Amino acid sequence: MNDQALSKFAQNLRGRLIRSSDDDYDAARALYNAMIDKRPRLIARCVDAADVIAAVNFARTEGLLTAIRGGGHNGPGLGSCDDGLVIDLSVMRSIRVDPANKTVRVDGGCTSGDVDHATHAFGLAVPFGIVSTTGVAGLTLGGGTGYLTRKYGLTIDNLLEADVVLANGTFVTANRTQHPDLFWALRGGGGNFGVVTSFLFQAHPVKMVFAGPIFWDAAKDGKAVMRAYRDWLPTAPEEYGFFVGLKTVPPVDPFPKEHWGKRACAVIGAYNGPAADGQQGIGRLLKELPSPFFNWMGEMPYPMIQSLFDPFFPKGLQWYWKGDFVKTLPDQAIDTHIAQAAKAPSAFSLMHLYPIDGAVHRVAKDATAWSARDATWSMVIAGIDPDPKQADALKTWGRSYWNAVHPFNLAGGYVNFMMDDEVAGRLRAAYGENYQRLATVKAKYDPHNLFRVNQNIQPAAV
Ligand SMILES: Cc1cc2nc3c(=O)[nH]c(=O)nc-3n(C[C@H](O)[C@H](O)[C@H](O)COP(=O)(O)OP(=O)(O)OC[C@H]3O[C@@H](n4cnc5c(N)ncnc54)[C@H](O)[C@@H]3O)c2cc1C
Repeated sequence: MNDQALSKFAQNLRGRLIRSSDDDYDAARALYNAMIDKRPRLIARCVDAADVIAAVNFARTEGLLTAIRGGGHNGPGLGSCDDGLVIDLSVMRSIRVDPANKTVRVDGGCTSGDVDHATHAFGLAVPFGIVSTTGVAGLTLGGGTGYLTRKYGLTIDNLLEADVVLANGTFVTANRTQHPDLFWALRGGGGNFGVVTSFLFQAHPVKMVFAGPIFWDAAKDGKAVMRAYRDWLPTAPEEYGFFVGLKTVPPVDPFPKEHWGKRACAVIGAYNGPAADGQQGIGRLLKELPSPFFNWMGEMPYPMIQSLFDPFFPKGLQWYWKGDFVKTLPDQAIDTHIAQAAKAPSAFSLMHLYPIDGAVHRVAKDATAWSARDATWSMVIAGIDPDPKQADALKTWGRSYWNAVHPFNLAGGYVNFMMDDEVAGRLRAAYGENYQRLATVKAKYDPHNLFRVNQNIQPAAV
């Protein structure tokens, strides 16, 4: 690396340039998933688009491996890299809500909790994921599923525009009329096309929701619950954003002590509407089912359900992820899920099936890069534990669970639920017929693959 170029870069940066000799280097490089331990040469903590432009130009001219960090939540740690430059947006967190147009402008380093907080004051929300510390940038660029998805679509279906610093250092705005090819690719194609410094989202009326978890005994009632949920979902109005999962009753208050550590089947979600109506619809699901361990559904502010999981999943746990798109859930698949989940190596480990029907299906498969518009659920299997010694057990369980259920699922999976050990062809399967078009857009906007620390789309040969 050229010393003169480095000191010029450091001087011109309004944010900080963090190096391995800095006291806070370890804190700055730490990722959400403690299974991943990367040591970047430099971390450019950008404060504005000008800093991002300087960082991209420096990385390109110095030939540095380049990673882009939003919330740092990515499973395989694709927000960082070894021995390269991290363009870190984590302090770029400004938000502006436009209540008249029901839109919100969001900086590239925001978490979903940041945005939920800002929009809630105006009785608005954008569909994001279910843990509030997740970065908006990585989540959005991969697609984005959550409690509001059935009614309002994926996060990308609510993206109106993005400001992007391209690999050649130019700054562009991508929307339906400006750089429409880039705008298409950003909606699902991940961090392949440039550094997004700002997003503009459509927001929707959401204030109080009827929401929460219901847990049953997985061994005794899991099959019945999963079947009933499967049959209920297509009949439930889209205001019901409920997923089904297999997990363990956490051995902590306020969970009932007599159930601590028991394997559970859970239905968790939010109904966006009056609590009495929400209660009625859930009643239709519950009426045929045995009594749960507990039912904690109730009326709450939307940001509360959005952060329900936060205390259980602090930064620094070990995570191993596997995902798939799921179209149907035959009884045999349910039996396989129950059997595999029962072998989980830790109390934190889980399987969730997030619904991606409703509004997601009303968008054409080729309208955005994200193409799994005919799937009903996005499945995630996550082996999770605080103890690094458990890492191998988490991987072994995740892989064997996935191998057992994959034959029931579609070929592709959600890029945001992939690690870096996917079998050949998985990324192409994730994008289906859109893959080739993504490779063509990549060749136009990042022909030398500067942005390759991601679920990488190789530029098409030109
Ligand atoms: C606890 C937990 C819960 C989750 N729940 C959900 C959920 O409910 N729904 C869901 O859809 N997903 C969920 N996810 C997955 C999540 O979407 C991905 O982990 C996502 O990559 C996180 O984005 P990030 O910005 O935090 O990640 P980072 O690690 O910062 O970055 C991830 C990727 O995005 C790219 N990137 C980041 N910022 C930018 C930017 N500004 N411009 C261009 N590229 C950028 C990077 O290149 C990298 O490849 C969850 C993840 C965790 C850990």
